[in-house]
Amino acid sequence: MTGRQLDLFPADAGVRPGVPLRSQEIPLIPAPPAILPLRPDALPAGTRWREVVLDAQTLGFLLRRSRRKSIGLVIRDDGLLVQAPAWSTLPQIDQVVRDKAGWILRKLEERAERLQLLALQATQWRAGGAIPYLGVRIELALDGTRAVRYAGDADAPRPGDVLSLPLPEDADADRIRDSAGAWLQQRARIDFGRRLDRFLAAAGQSLEGWGLSSATGRWGSCTSDRRIRLNWRLIHFQPPLIDYVVAHEVAHLRVMNHGPAFWRELERLQPGFKAARDTLAQHSPDSLPLI
Ligand SMILES: [Zn+2]
Repeated sequence: MTGRQLDLFPADAGVRPGVPLRSQEIPLIPAPPAILPLRPDALPAGTRWREVVLDAQTLGFLLRRSRRKSIGLVIRDDGLLVQAPAWSTLPQIDQVVRDKAGWILRKLEERAERLQLLALQATQWRAGGAIPYLGVRIELALDGTRAVRYAGDADAPRPGDVLSLPLPEDADADRIRDSAGAWLQQRARIDFGRRLDRFLAAAGQSLEGWGLSSATGRWGSCTSDRRIRLNWRLIHFQPPLIDYVVAHEVAHLRVMNHGPAFWRELERLQPGFKAARDTLAQHSPDSLPLI
């Protein structure tokens, strides 16, 4: 890609307090989230899973060895990540987790509330499992005798809509994830294309081209030669969050920086964008579920 590129959002989701959305703007998702993270189907690269027994519960976490000088804790969408120097022993690491249990549980509770807002928790790659799609949880079904089909309105999904994948009932999690991912990317192309058209018209701008990305650490980008890339994983989110990223990149076609003129242009394109911006800023594409 040529030209200057602006990145939207740094890679590290970090630990920030939850910023509740106003419910008239983005409806709450009713499914109750689990506070304690489950062991992911696939562990992030370079990590192992470890569990520590606290008073009445078992706390699982991801452990990564690093060149740090001390043991560090961070709460991500996929749970607690402990980064520890190579020399630290497992009992030392467990003790740090126990000592910080109060803080960890409080932050995990905030995480659960965040994930509930975005319908992101507990993606399960099996028949009857749920995936987040445009901010609602839809269900997966397997039917190897038919083409992929969506029972409901894929442009305006409702909780519990069923996505039937053309796979045999005994398909393993990897195949289900690949098949669902392909469908989600196809939907992302359609959905984001419409949003781009709408914001481009409102901005009086045109593009050289656009495409989906699966970049880690970034939701969208815009180059000075008028090309926009949008992270396809945005398709998991509620429409106002997708609109924010699309409007943000379209606003860069007029203003290639984040100065006052840029935010004025964005406010013109998407009035009241700040709630969506603050919510999205807490999520890194790296920590989305497993696709
Ligand atoms: Zn930007």
